[in-house]
Amino acid sequence: MEKRKLIIVGSGIAGAATAWSVAQRGGRDVLLLDGATQPGSHSTGRNAAILRTAIPDAALHRLALISANFYRQPGADFCGTPLVEEHGLMIIANAGENSRQLEAWITNPAFACPSEKLDFQAVRKAHPYFREEDGSAWLFANEGGIDVHALLEAYLRGALQRGVEMRTRCQVRRLIREGNRILGVETATGPILADQVVLATGGWASLLTDDLQLPLHFNARRRHLVVTAADTAVKPHAPVVWNVGADEFYFRPESGGLLMSACDHVAVAPALGEMLDRDVLPEVAEKALRWLPGLADAAFANAWAGMRTFSKDNRFVIGPDPRVEGLLWVAGLGGHGITCSYAVGELAADWILNGRSAHPSAPALHPRRLLLNREQHQLARH
Ligand SMILES: Cc1cc2nc3c(=O)[nH]c(=O)nc-3n(C[C@H](O)[C@H](O)[C@H](O)COP(=O)(O)OP(=O)(O)OC[C@H]3O[C@@H](n4cnc5c(N)ncnc54)[C@H](O)[C@@H]3O)c2cc1C
Repeated sequence: MEKRKLIIVGSGIAGAATAWSVAQRGGRDVLLLDGATQPGSHSTGRNAAILRTAIPDAALHRLALISANFYRQPGADFCGTPLVEEHGLMIIANAGENSRQLEAWITNPAFACPSEKLDFQAVRKAHPYFREEDGSAWLFANEGGIDVHALLEAYLRGALQRGVEMRTRCQVRRLIREGNRILGVETATGPILADQVVLATGGWASLLTDDLQLPLHFNARRRHLVVTAADTAVKPHAPVVWNVGADEFYFRPESGGLLMSACDHVAVAPALGEMLDRDVLPEVAEKALRWLPGLADAAFANAWAGMRTFSKDNRFVIGPDPRVEGLLWVAGLGGHGITCSYAVGELAADWILNGRSAHPSAPALHPRRLLLNREQHQLARH
């Protein structure tokens, strides 16, 4: 029977970054499996490709900063082309309470991120069709777009060059468990045993362990993206703009038009997570009209949906499952999995190769805290 040291299930950005990081540090005999025909064809291939380190959660913010530094100078052997499009990211809010809250967050000394305060005039200068009302904007000049395709390819190329084997069209049907140990995975073509199995299965994170009565309760939430037809008013290198207050909405230049999201987040079964819900399009149009009145006539040229997957406390889940031996998680990357992938891979490799991680965010992301929470909740109910 086939036997490996390490199996990683899922070749999205989580599985790819983990495979690269493990291989980079000398880990050998690694098999990366994905049920899809192409790696990265689910959430990793369906997102907004925005690099945003301004994340209110300190544990995730740290991962974002480390990762962004790596993407800016990854070294020519990792990727020969720039990964970050530093056209700027503007985080904005309407005048009033939203603006005050944004200012309190961004000027908090614990939130170490270089930014410059602007007003809506600056947004209008970059995006002339933007609304006339007032508000505040914070510019993160070195952020903006990220080349997701190049990043994923670089992780996979680096991993494969260092001996990782990748198999696509290889759906894992179940985990093989004996007592309190995971022994491997069952695929359509038979079992594969392994010392360690990593679940990097994105929106499907819950499925394989629910069957084993080892739930961690992930929640897949569907979000739509829409791209408008090309318009000469859109400057191709204009910054990303993200309204974080009530009425959340973001947009950035894409293919001559604007890519935008009304930031919908409906909980769905993973089987429906990528299904376009046409009822959402009027919601996007309505928000677009409010924020971008100068583009009122723009037609929608393209639209799609993808899953952002969350744990109970919205933090990533990285590390060994405390209930069984041989099982690790790299899951629940929510809406920041691309931005944070480098540090996610590093943290996962710590756990896989060393059985521990000294990373300051490691305790906050360990699966154990979800089980403690569950027990605490149960105690509170009695
Ligand atoms: C609309 C939208 C916009 C977003 N925008 C951004 C953004 O701008 N910036 C950012 O940083 N993040 C963004 N995200 C979040 C980001 O896309 C995700 O956090 C990230 O892609 C998650 O990666 P993953 O590898 O965990 O999941 P996935 O990419 O979904 O990979 C999981 C893989 O596991 C495989 N798999 C699952 N089950 C099995 C099985 N049983 N057997 C074999 N293979 C299996 C799947 O085929 C899949 O390839 C966005 C997400 C969405 C939906």
